Amino acid sequence: MKLPRNFKNNFSLKNNNSLKLDYKSDFYADCNGLEDLGQIYDFINENKINIWVIGEGTNLVIKNDLKGLVIKNNLKGFKVNKNFINVGAGENWDSVVSKTLELNLYGLENLSGIPGSVGAAPIQNIGAYGAEVSDFISYVEVINIKNGCTEIFSNEECKFIYRGSIFKNEPHLIITNVCFCLSKEFKPNTHYESLSGQLSSAEDIRKRVLLIRSEKLLDYLEIPNVGSFFQNPIIEKKLFNDLLIDYPDLKYYQLNSELYKIPAAWLIEKAGWKGTSNGDAGISDKHALIFYNHSKKVNDILTHSSEVVKSISDKFKITLHYEPTFIS
Ligand SMILES: Cc1cc2nc3c(=O)[nH]c(=O)nc-3n(C[C@H](O)[C@H](O)[C@H](O)COP(=O)(O)OP(=O)(O)OC[C@H]3O[C@@H](n4cnc5c(N)ncnc54)[C@H](O)[C@@H]3O)c2cc1C
Repeated sequence: MKLPRNFKNNFSLKNNNSLKLDYKSDFYADCNGLEDLGQIYDFINENKINIWVIGEGTNLVIKNDLKGLVIKNNLKGFKVNKNFINVGAGENWDSVVSKTLELNLYGLENLSGIPGSVGAAPIQNIGAYGAEVSDFISYVEVINIKNGCTEIFSNEECKFIYRGSIFKNEPHLIITNVCFCLSKEFKPNTHYESLSGQLSSAEDIRKRVLLIRSEKLLDYLEIPNVGSFFQNPIIEKKLFNDLLIDYPDLKYYQLNSELYKIPAAWLIEKAGWKGTSNGDAGISDKHALIFYNHSKKVNDILTHSSEVVKSISDKFKITLHYEPTFIS
């Protein structure tokens, strides 16, 4: 097999994932522009191999050495047209949030400080502090690696849901650009409890969000982690009412007359797992949803998290679902 000049083989992914898992991929390619995309397309179609597209690796759990090609998306670009901005997938998310505020374009301030790239933001519909990125996406531009064609997905076609979108199950779609529709008028979104009080500008909200995040979350550059390890489960009314009898202090958010969202952190803490560890992995004592990992291998974090899943199911009859993407 002939490797294009800028491809690497037997490549360690340790510096490409925030859990610092040290697994290798058969092949690795940086994608910095359209020319690289063309080369990647030819290589995949000639060799019929598996691919994984990654951004900054802050939402990835790599389970073993990867038999195929890892494509690191570095596509840059930032174009403003009135209140629309079209951004390259490889731009850093938080730098883009900061730039939009400098341009007096509002909406993304509650999503300040989320690690990762712009291209990954639609994948799991990133969200925090009462906002979701889907509220601000006009369209997403992709290259379909099966046929090399560019496709545009409108907001509706992205099929956004809580921590999900159509892209989660379509690994052949490489997101190249995301177009955001922002507002020229600042309308504060302070529904979230910890954002109440005197926040008179988007900059104030950004500062408050960054402060809370620095207090509650672990810095992944120092302690390897992927942010929340589980999604907040959504349960039906019958189970919710049963749980309220046993746990009158149950925390919840009512979605509609039938469905309730329960904070996974509350369940994990209530079941006594906060601050526990297993070998080189464990759960933060500051935030029960943050699982850290000091090993180069995935085993300890998988063992610990699956014990948590079983315990929550036994105690509350609730199934927890992982938030990061597992690749193997
Ligand atoms: C400390 C910490 C805090 C966090 N806080 C939050 C939070 O508040 N809210 C939240 O929603 N998330 C949070 N996260 C998770 C993470 O920041 C987001 O999921 C982010 O969008 C991941 O970006 P990334 O570039 O690192 O993606 P990666 O981890 O590289 O990839 C994630 C997924 O996206 C896919 N992907 C990436 N780029 C592309 C592309 N261009 N085309 C197609 N597929 C692609 C990958 O294949 C993978 O499935 C946090 C993570 C950490 C470490």
